Order: sequence, then C-alpha cells, then structure tokens
Amino acid sequence: MNLSELQTQLKRLDLTPSRKLGQSFLVDENIAAWIAAQLQVTPDDCVIEIGPGFGALTRHLAGKCRRLILVEADGRLARFLQETYGPLGVEVVHGDATAYDVRPLFLEGGVKFIGNLPYSVGNAILSRFLDSPSPVRSAIVMVQKEVGDRFVAVPRTKDYGVLGLMLQERWRVTALRTVGPEPFHPRPAVDSTILRFDPRPPDDLPPHSPEVFRSVVKQGFSQRRKQLHNNLQIGKENAAEIFSVLDCQASVRAEELSLPQWVRLSNLLDPHPCGDLPPSADESLEVVTENDEVSGVLPRREVHQKKLRHRAVHVFLQNKSGEIYLQLRSHLKDTHPGKWDSSASGHVDPGETYDDCAVRELWEELWVRPRGDLTRVARLSASAATDDEFIEVFLAETKGKIRVHGKEIDSGRWFAPEQIEEWIEKRPQDFATGCITCFQAWRAGLR
Ligand code: SAM
Repeated sequence: MNLSELQTQLKRLDLTPSRKLGQSFLVDENIAAWIAAQLQVTPDDCVIEIGPGFGALTRHLAGKCRRLILVEADGRLARFLQETYGPLGVEVVHGDATAYDVRPLFLEGGVKFIGNLPYSVGNAILSRFLDSPSPVRSAIVMVQKEVGDRFVAVPRTKDYGVLGLMLQERWRVTALRTVGPEPFHPRPAVDSTILRFDPRPPDDLPPHSPEVFRSVVKQGFSQRRKQLHNNLQIGKENAAEIFSVLDCQASVRAEELSLPQWVRLSNLLDPHPCGDLPPSADESLEVVTENDEVSGVLPRREVHQKKLRHRAVHVFLQNKSGEIYLQLRSHLKDTHPGKWDSSASGHVDPGETYDDCAVRELWEELWVRPRGDLTRVARLSASAATDDEFIEVFLAETKGKIRVHGKEIDSGRWFAPEQIEEWIEKRPQDFATGCITCFQAWRAGLR
C-alpha cells in the first residue's frame, strides 16, 4: 500500500493512527516485500504475524504458507484484515499479542514469526513468543533501532545488558538492516532495525539452569556502575576465587562478562542438584520378576541390553488451574533427546520405593519438593510397550519455583491436559514414548 492508498483507507475506516498502539504504517512496497522475504516462507509453514495493521507484510505472505495467523489489537484493523484476507484462508485474531496463548502453536510443529512491532510493547510481545520453550522456529521483527541495538549488544558497550543477554541465551540475533522514518506513515521520530532471530544450537553454551542464569544476570546488572561482586553480594574474597575460574579480576563489572561467562557464573553460584548425579552409564538397577519382586542388581546397560524387567516412575506435576508441567528433554539425553516428557521420571534406585523415587526425581530434575503426598494414578506392568519397566505414575503438586538444568532438561511449560491429549494425537513424534503411555494410562483411569 502506498501513501495515498493508505490515506484513502484511513479515511474510509475513520481511523487516526494511534500513538498508544504504535501505529506507524509501512508505505514503501519494496521494503515491505524485502522484510517478508527474509522469513523464507515455504508452503508447509505456519506463520504468525503480530500487528499486521493494513497488511503491508501480510500481502507478501498470504497464499504462500499452510497457515497464516494475524494478531491485531485494533478492532477496526482486525475487521479490515478479516474482510481482505479472510477469504484467502488467513486467520485473524482481534486481540492483544502480549496476552496471546502461544501454547497451541506447539501443535503446529513450530511456527515462523514476523512483525513490524508496536514499539511500546515490542519487548513484551517478544518475551511472550520467544521465551523458552518457544514454538517459534525463526523470527523476523522490526523494532526501534535503540532497542534492536540492545538485542545484539556485545560486552563492554553501553547497550549490553539484561535485555540482550536474556534473548541471546536462546537466540542468535542478527541485525539485518536499518531504516529511517521515511517509509512510514505517520513518520516515527526514530530509526528502526530489522532483526532476524534463529534458535541458538543447544550445544552452543555449557549446560546450565535457565532460571538461575536469568536471576544471576538480573542481580548482576542491578547496579551497573558497581563491581559485580557487590551486586551479587558474594564478598570480595569469594569473588576472587569465583571470578578467577572465569579468568576475570575480582573487580570485574557486569558489562565485562560475555554470555558464556555468565552461564559459567550461574553454574558456579547456584549449582543445580542434577549436577551431582553420577553418569547414567554407572547406574545400577534392581532386576525384578514378573510379579515385581526384586531378584538381583545389575548395571543399567546390561538390564537394558538383556531386556530384563526393572522399575521406574513418571510424575505429573499439576498446578492450581489443573495444568500439567511437561519437560522438554535435554539434547544430551541418551534416550529421546529433545522430546517432550512427563514432569519428571526415572529408574527406581536399588533399595528405594517407588514413592521415594518420585520425590527424588522431582528434586533432581526440577529442584522442587512435592506439596503433601503424591497420588498414585496408574500402575503399568512391565512389557515391551514399557521397555520392560514396571512403572508407577504419580500426580503431585509442588511448592516453590521449578528450576531445570540443561544436563537433563532444556526447559518446561504448563499445558492443559486436554491440550496434551490433542497434541499427542496430532504429533506423537514430539513426545518420549514413556510419557505418552503414562499420560494416557492416567487419563484412562479418570474415565
Ligand atoms: N505491520 C503494519 C505495517 O508494517 O504497516 C503495522 C505496523 S504498526 C508499527 C504496529 C501494529 O501493531 C499496529 O497495527 C497496531 O494496531 C498493532 N498493535 C499495537 N499493539 C498491539 C498489541 N498489543 N497486540 C497486537 N497488535 C498490536
């Protein structure tokens, strides 16, 4: 849409661009086409566009992908988009993208994200869509240059800080192009940057706890001018020891640490309980009879190779809304790496009860204790379908904040049970097989 077409539409809809909604519409066809092309849309893609306005980017996406979802906060624009793109099969959501529920997007097997974002809520929208675990596989966004500079900032610069580190922990962010105010109506007072976000490969950084990383970075930058040990309240002597591991002086400031150094620092300051686990190759398991009676103890590898019966637990954590926490398994796991799984699960140790094992797995994997007693909701006999495991399935509530660690778990999220059912039905390949068996056994027991 060029400027005169836009002005005609604004008049027709009796719309004065809203500053509050960050309405600055692109009126340069070439730039709009260039931005949309950066998403490299294929016919198989599901694409979500935020703040489509009059459809400057949309018109280059419609008809080119399997599914296109538009999220627009302005009711008049949402109606316009529905009239213009609805007949082409485009889905228009009239709503606030900062409150958009991204979880159904996992059922798409991942989505591509694009938006010339409203500047006032750009960060909130990005956090909503890109915080891990995210259903977004790649993103092209336009934000005000000043903010874009912070996303791509490197150490020892004024723009380097919490915002950039939070994004860079999970994403490789590339500034593609800067544009001035000219291609917009009304013209903004600042320049804009077009950025590309690609997921950071999981082995790019040492395994760590994303929750601990976030809190250490936030605390570390709480007073930028101060030396880091003051912000972290770790004392100068402690600091000398910790920072020497990172090859830094005790007097180092937050803005001097690189992303890998922040990751290592978070591992040093708050070691996750799963860091103490012996390698799974050293694990010994009880072998049990067809009646689940212990008949001996053997190395895990032998138990699995000879397909001997043994014991395991799966735990589903439930929150007050009845949602279930699913974990995304680490890429480092020897079985089902990168798949969704029960909240916590594992083999019963020699001499341990199923219940004790469930409590231990919650601690080692999620760093939480259960609230009250666990409820046993299913019991599965050992068979080929359970990989020769007798499995007890527990439902639990928890107190405290879940914290995971990349050695075991990439990240996790709460989902409604009905959504998990639909997801398993649609994309069983996203899940570890044991999770599907245990989840379905629990749900079947409710019917
Ligand atoms: N994509 C269009 C373009 O490039 O011409 C419009 C971009 S304009 C900078 C931002 C758009 O985001 C506007 O259409 C505005 O109504 C919409 N918007 C503002 N806040 C929003 C929110 N919270 N959720 C969804 N859309 C929003």
